[in-house]
Amino acid sequence: MGALSGLTQPTPAVAWKMLKEGNERFVDGRRDHPNQDAERRSQLSGGQFPYTVIFGCGDSRLAAEHIFDLGLGDAFVVRTAGQVIENGVLGSIEYAVEAFETPIIMVLGHDSCGAVTAARDAIESGEMPPGFIRNLVERIIPSVISPELPPKAHVNDMVREHTRQTAIRITEQSSIISDAVLSGKVAVVGVFYHLHSGKAELVFSSQDLSLPDDFDVANPSTQSLPIIDKKQPKIVFSPVWGENPSPWGL
Ligand SMILES: [Zn+2]
Repeated sequence: MGALSGLTQPTPAVAWKMLKEGNERFVDGRRDHPNQDAERRSQLSGGQFPYTVIFGCGDSRLAAEHIFDLGLGDAFVVRTAGQVIENGVLGSIEYAVEAFETPIIMVLGHDSCGAVTAARDAIESGEMPPGFIRNLVERIIPSVISPELPPKAHVNDMVREHTRQTAIRITEQSSIISDAVLSGKVAVVGVFYHLHSGKAELVFSSQDLSLPDDFDVANPSTQSLPIIDKKQPKIVFSPVWGENPSPWGL
């Protein structure tokens, strides 16, 4: 499980552009299927150096490596139904940040989420589901009743809010993650996935991730990178209910 030595991670903005471009290939049906051959397996036998943490819902339609056209060793993936935070989740994300200096942590929700729907139904009916499913639902309810939601909110509005709140809570609850975010080395982003189109929509980011349109992620070291103000990282809340909720054009 050790980190591969001699490698450097991309900046959060470059890592986001790599993920965004992978998702665009997936949406357009032109995936590269990178890093899935015997050579890559051999490279990784001595360690790993993933450039993204993806913490997503366990829904079978939300296969992270497919959605972002990733391969072996690219993503450290943690999943629970409704992307519900618990101690093991936070420990797993902290481990990736500490061991691999992973520059981007993505919280991944999706439309028509069954876990968020169950939380909404529990509020409406007053009845909680049985067993440990109740634990999941209890942790989603604060997002479902959020004052940020519009009146008569759709379940997908609740998923967007839950994804944003989860991204914020990860940073608030873990000092390892919040220190990494404040240093500017790590961004936490919230992404809403559209099951039908395959599009990944940015709904939250802990910092500005914009890069020049012509920035080539294949050769980041030859190009100038935006300077991050490490003392005052910009917390970006994208508008959630507008026509174009993503300022990054996804
Ligand atoms: Zn789900």
